[in-house]
Amino acid sequence: MQFSKLADMFDRLEATSSRLEMTDILAEFFKTVEPSELRQVIYLSVGRLHPEFYPQELGMADKLVLKAIASVSGRTQKEVDDLWIKTGDPGEVAEQLITKKKQMTLFSEPLSFKAVVEGLTLIETATGKDSQDKKMKHLARMMHDSGPIESRYLCRIVTGRMRVGAGAMTIMDALALAFATKEQRPDIERAFNITCDMGLVAETVAKGGIDAVKKIGVTVGSPVKVMLAERLRSLPDIMDRMEGKCAFEYKYDGMRVQAHIKKGPNGFVKLYSRRLEDLTSNFPDIADALMRQLKGDEAIIEGECVAFEPETGNLLPFQNVTHRRKKHGMEQAVEDVPVRIFMFDLLYHDGKDYTLMPYSMRRSKLEMSFNEAKDGVDKVGYTTRAIISDEDQAQTFFDQAIASKCEGIMAKSLEDISIYRAGSRGFLWIQYKKDYTQALVDTFDLAVVGAFYGMGKRAGVYGALLMAAYDPDTGKFGTACKLGTGFDDAFLAALPGMLDQYKSEKKPSSVNAEMVPDVWFVPGIVLEVSAADISISPIHTISYGAIKEDAGLGLRFPRFTGRVRDDKTPEQCTTSAEIIEFYNLQESRDSDSSESDNDSE
Ligand code: ATP
Repeated sequence: MQFSKLADMFDRLEATSSRLEMTDILAEFFKTVEPSELRQVIYLSVGRLHPEFYPQELGMADKLVLKAIASVSGRTQKEVDDLWIKTGDPGEVAEQLITKKKQMTLFSEPLSFKAVVEGLTLIETATGKDSQDKKMKHLARMMHDSGPIESRYLCRIVTGRMRVGAGAMTIMDALALAFATKEQRPDIERAFNITCDMGLVAETVAKGGIDAVKKIGVTVGSPVKVMLAERLRSLPDIMDRMEGKCAFEYKYDGMRVQAHIKKGPNGFVKLYSRRLEDLTSNFPDIADALMRQLKGDEAIIEGECVAFEPETGNLLPFQNVTHRRKKHGMEQAVEDVPVRIFMFDLLYHDGKDYTLMPYSMRRSKLEMSFNEAKDGVDKVGYTTRAIISDEDQAQTFFDQAIASKCEGIMAKSLEDISIYRAGSRGFLWIQYKKDYTQALVDTFDLAVVGAFYGMGKRAGVYGALLMAAYDPDTGKFGTACKLGTGFDDAFLAALPGMLDQYKSEKKPSSVNAEMVPDVWFVPGIVLEVSAADISISPIHTISYGAIKEDAGLGLRFPRFTGRVRDDKTPEQCTTSAEIIEFYNLQESRDSDSSESDNDSE
């Protein structure tokens, strides 16, 4: 396949914001691609050479890419740089300048897709003190054989700006359309959720159809998308929903990790965050303890890593464990911030996939799978848990959890249907936090989709952000507030750098917005935001039409809490359904309190 064929498809995708149209474009294209090439096509469509959880070193600085463009186009460096200052996108610079070059050169080998994968691999693996020069030359070589559109995408891929608008949901729709049926779409989604590898799923379905996809299982080393919890407003509501009986566990305030453990000569331990980042180097002590204490050879488990006070053993809030997320001085950090893992689930053990087994079975297997620490240093333990069958027990357990410095409780269904639902949020797990008992309902995790330039003291930096929640049914982000408070000077100064790689020239196709910011961003950064309440909004688009026709919902008096949720992907941020639930919760609470106000009159 020639690379131009893929680049043209990307170009058509980028030109539409209709998910249906994107699905058709992708499905038609997938059918014409060799199954052996499809895997790489899928990775490249999001600017990668590997699945998402594999660390990628492709990132080339804009300056280096501009040098490559100058060498291929024959333009002076100044001309190239000037155009870059105007457009801000090396992809666009390449597209404009390489056109002219192509008119002058009649002899160029058309660039093949295979050559692009090889070229990008060379860029990724270039090492040594002249590595920058090597990267630049590999890119120039590929652009030499490219037309303008191909050059645009090559530059976007190497600078981490590849966004053609088709998200995972659309790609799965297209795979079902091309190689299976609509009814078989859930099998594709499950395979993706338990491997986090869309390339693998695509190649499998293209080669072996849906039967082959059904055989895909969890594998040690490939992270599984995490199961998430719903929330309810009170303990009695939870007991009702669980039909009177369920398990309660402490909800620890730490960092969730999914540990993949494999013993033997090719053994390893990998700790993944809920957004699939490799956290192993942040918790070397936990990784060692898990490896030492596992019974058997292989396992995938989940737990919460929590910092504690060495003198008292008291658990410390989340902020403390984030000190482990540094690149240097880890040995000291391990000593300064002792951490313990509280395990709560087991997904795989010695050749057996437990994800489709009920919670009770997974939990008992988990408790059988680890030895006590030999050195008496207790780094590995289980979440405190009890079977609860009435409201008094529920309240007592919740009070104990709070007294033990936890955030609240997680209720877990004991029914046979309580499988590990990878990648989805549902009522098999229900969380209840201390915050819910206070006036402020909860905090919201929202994705940054736009920014407004500051004025006065904030001139020269972003003064406010446009924040959005996610609607998994449509795969779109809808705006929920304009956020301008809670920022300190250091955060405001860091914001442009943090957001730069997500900049988009136009409104990203995954964003629904009425409000127009000065700068658009593809959702990438998630911030925690508190609010006084939620109201019907004529301008915000999340949950549009759900409560009132022609209106969405918006957060009132939003404030940044200071917490960047870098453990969450944008798709894991607060959902439209949760916003509606919060709105209803607040409405019924308000009517409850006005009733009791009336009572007291
Ligand atoms: P939060 O903002 O507190 O992370 P959330 O809305 O993102 O909440 P979920 O991610 O659905 O909620 O679930 C709660 C999180 O609580 C889990 O991701 C996990 O990190 C943590 N947790 C703490 N204790 C437990 C436990 N016993 N079982 C499951 N998850 C737990």
